[in-house]
Amino acid sequence: KHAAKIRLDNVKQSQERDKDKADRATAELVLDQRTRMILLQMINRGVVNEIHGAISTGKEANVYGAVLYPDDGSEPIQRAIKIYKTAILVFKDRERYITGEHRFKAGADKGNNRKMVKLWAEKEFRNLRRLHAAGIACPEPLMLKLHVLVMEFLGDKRGYAYPRLRDARFAGDDIDQQWRNLYIQLLGIMRRLYQVCKLVHADLSEYNILYNDDRLYIIDVSQSVEHDHPRALEFLRMDIKNVGDFFRRQGVDTLQDRAIFNFITA
Ligand code: ATP
Ligand code: MN
Repeated sequence: KHAAKIRLDNVKQSQERDKDKADRATAELVLDQRTRMILLQMINRGVVNEIHGAISTGKEANVYGAVLYPDDGSEPIQRAIKIYKTAILVFKDRERYITGEHRFKAGADKGNNRKMVKLWAEKEFRNLRRLHAAGIACPEPLMLKLHVLVMEFLGDKRGYAYPRLRDARFAGDDIDQQWRNLYIQLLGIMRRLYQVCKLVHADLSEYNILYNDDRLYIIDVSQSVEHDHPRALEFLRMDIKNVGDFFRRQGVDTLQDRAIFNFITA
């Protein structure tokens, strides 16, 4: 059986990205004693066997690659672990998403940062479950413990994550058609998200969509709100604008924001 190990400092990067020292320091800062305990627990429970380097180090969370080696000797399974940062300053902007969220009325407590971060992770976990249940391509959520979320890895077997839509490159002579198809696909996803999941993403852009093999995957739904959230439609208009701006830059002849809004909500 594979020895369980955490390799948090000197690790094989699953994505080749330039990282300066400050970046690496940020990556390790998030792994306080409590976080390490949770990761060890996940290893002991056989959710993952190895935790690798950061796929992404962001303002509010870091995402790590991880691997599970199944007991039956079958192929290793890649996983992703999102660890929300518990530092205080980062979360000041979240208020507007939480306020008006009836799912979080009881727990929301601005004074208790750790609790807020836990709620945030919970929100992402539950939202991912809804997307997954509705058949929207996204990482399947697998396990949640406080501010640590384990999910399906969106990438290849070697641990290379799919590119963000922003970085997607196509080959062939029908590139315009491919962009058009992706645009139509995304409008369908946004409608389904609204109509079936009853959610508005609220941070939808080419940065929170991964691309592989003609398919779009929605990620980063911790700030997504219920469709009856007081600011849901405002957030939806923002999402529609971001998406439209991006696809226009790719040369797609986009529909008017107004028409898209009606298509999604009608
Ligand atoms: P930031 O503060 O940088 O915006 P974030 O909180 O927005 O971080 P995400 O957008 O969920 O975090 O993830 C950051 C990046 O990690 C994504 O752009 C993507 O490249 C990678 N990533 C996230 N989840 C997965 C996954 N399940 N599989 C593969 N890669 C992932
Ligand atoms: Mn993101």
